[in-house]
Amino acid sequence: MKTYYLLLICLSALLISCTQNYYKIEDFQAVEKIDAHVHIYTEKGAGIEQAQNDNFKLFTINTNAGKCEKIDRLHSICKNVKQQFPQTIEFATTFCLDGFEEPGWAENTIAWIDSCRNDGAIAVKVWKNIGMVFRDTDNNLVMIDDSRFDPVFKYLAEVGIPLIGHLGEPKNCWLPLEDMTTNNDRSYFSSHPEYHMYLHPEMPSYEEQMAARDRMLEKNPILIFIGCHLASLEWDVEEIANFLDRFPNSAVDMAARMGQLFFQTKDNREKVRDFFIKYQDRILYGTDIIDNGDSNTEGFQNRIHITWLNDWEYLVTDNLKTSDLIEGEFQGLKLPKKVVDKIYFENTKKWYKGFD
Ligand SMILES: [Zn+2]
Repeated sequence: MKTYYLLLICLSALLISCTQNYYKIEDFQAVEKIDAHVHIYTEKGAGIEQAQNDNFKLFTINTNAGKCEKIDRLHSICKNVKQQFPQTIEFATTFCLDGFEEPGWAENTIAWIDSCRNDGAIAVKVWKNIGMVFRDTDNNLVMIDDSRFDPVFKYLAEVGIPLIGHLGEPKNCWLPLEDMTTNNDRSYFSSHPEYHMYLHPEMPSYEEQMAARDRMLEKNPILIFIGCHLASLEWDVEEIANFLDRFPNSAVDMAARMGQLFFQTKDNREKVRDFFIKYQDRILYGTDIIDNGDSNTEGFQNRIHITWLNDWEYLVTDNLKTSDLIEGEFQGLKLPKKVVDKIYFENTKKWYKGFD
């Protein structure tokens, strides 16, 4: 009888510790989280307010999608929202390419990055315009491993500032519409044929974009690199794993690539789950939410709340789910608490050295 009670006590202790190892959907508000990839292009603060309600801090990234004046203006917004909401916001800067071929471009760019660091920037972003749009005076596309970038990346490596790279596009961009894995890519590239690389075989291939990025990282082994959008290797977690193995100073963020994760989860949930567990120190949660100061504040706040909550459900529960992003059902990953805490908070804090 005594043994029976002892066994019962052991079993219930085991059960309690099992349930304590996982979060529930209801824990969403209580757990401290960071969205490591957003774009706040307004001082109106609607996105920030929603983040505070949902217990998120935000990492807002300035992106080189325009002229120098635009980068300047968006940098001022980053700086101001950081001052206004110091507990919620950290930010990254970027640099512009005007005068790229003129002497002094690298020195001026380093001076600009330095002034941004004084304003509070903790990382620097490079965008897909490098490799896909920006050309030199010989009309050649400038790739990310171009030696003219060397002094800038060397400087970032020396001072320990992470480089955030959105280089290339999802592999879907090089596939015919019917072979694409996600509905959002299919609809985007069908309405933007000019960006659909499958239709532009004269442009660098997907493999060439990835190889240029890898050559740049090989030249800069101590540079801290955050491959955003799953380092454009979103189509196979095994590819991301190989990348992370090859470049130990790299991590990836998940921004705007949930569809590809859902797609692979539908096909082989254990493979995706094992990837998250094995690389739990190198994956950062992020969404790519853009706050442009939309006049419909309530609608915007509701939309981002739902995005955050849906992703939370996928990562912490094993609920069966559907998504507009893909066809069919898939099951949530139900990652252990320890892993969830890392991808939602600790990794961003560690890799960007911010949010203290
Ligand atoms: Zn982005």
